[in-house]
Amino acid sequence: MKNIVVLGCTGSIGHQALEVISAYPEKFNIVGIAARRDSRRLAEFIKKFRPSVAALADPKRMTDLKDRLGPTTCALASGPEAIESMAALPEADLVINAMVGAVGLRSTVAALKADKTVALANKESLVAGGELVSSLVKREHQLLPVDSEHSAIFQCIQGEDVESIERLIVTGSGGPFRGRSHSELKMVTTKDALRHPTWSMGAKITIDSATLMNKGLEVIEAHYLFGIKYDQLEVLIHPQSIVHSLVEFKDGSVKAQMGYPDMKLPIQYALTYPERWHLGGDRLDLSDLASLTFEEPDMGTFSCLKLALDAANHGRTYPIILNAANEVAVAAFLDERITFNDIPDVIESALHAHEAAIPDSLEVIQHADKEGRHLAESWIGRHTA
Ligand code: MG
Repeated sequence: MKNIVVLGCTGSIGHQALEVISAYPEKFNIVGIAARRDSRRLAEFIKKFRPSVAALADPKRMTDLKDRLGPTTCALASGPEAIESMAALPEADLVINAMVGAVGLRSTVAALKADKTVALANKESLVAGGELVSSLVKREHQLLPVDSEHSAIFQCIQGEDVESIERLIVTGSGGPFRGRSHSELKMVTTKDALRHPTWSMGAKITIDSATLMNKGLEVIEAHYLFGIKYDQLEVLIHPQSIVHSLVEFKDGSVKAQMGYPDMKLPIQYALTYPERWHLGGDRLDLSDLASLTFEEPDMGTFSCLKLALDAANHGRTYPIILNAANEVAVAAFLDERITFNDIPDVIESALHAHEAAIPDSLEVIQHADKEGRHLAESWIGRHTA
């Protein structure tokens, strides 16, 4: 029996993780769940999945949660510290971190320090805290990928020596605006950007997919997860989202992992690793697909990807600034305070203004994160006043 904690349980990945876990009640036990502020769904999940403890990051939503629950045996806690305690819960074996944003880093750190296995869907943990998180991984496979591309790579390298890898090729659908020019993107609405062609996901990652920032963040994530240099990492646009990523080896052989887009597979693989268990859903029928196509990303139009790769190569605190400014810019775009094409401008201005440091502690990381947010907000203030 594996005891599992799900952080960010009311989001798309968190909810699907609860569904995957509850399909195997004799193997998995949900001991704790946590959400940022959605007390309505959290109450629903507490009743449905019956964890022993539950936490809300936003203390202001606690009264609402209690009202919705009525008498309960589930222990309730609130505040950011409650989320970190949940990540280090003594009875937990595995923690799924499905939080959104760099705010998830503290929980990843807390879980690893408490020697938990971490199934990581919070890519910002590695973008903002890659060096720190890597230094806390004490045993093989303590940190397992949930992101579909990284799960694909992880599946392809089973039984292989990391030294034999020549290149990792991270695929992406290209998002809803693939093929469009910079001027054609000037007037796109949040509604257009939220209409992803192949994956159904939360708002933040869907916008990141539309700008291609998501691929940039994923390259940084892959660098830390697999210990592969940036010059051995490539991005390839594959609109059908069937090939979830590829690995090229020293002898020229290329392995790919394929399937219809469904996050339940990478989630379940992280939970059952190194085993594979039955999972329902459509089986891939290649004869049914007209074609699989691949193309180079258009980094001129989708400059967020270029900014991310540059920040990755410059290292130090640049990826933290990139991520923080992106979080602020995406939130401002969703609030209709800035345009789609403003997003890379906000990030670029923050990167320019920043003086880099070595991110060797949580304090330095959080200081840079705060600075990135501040620089982004001040750009938005100057351009929207
Ligand atoms: Mg992904």
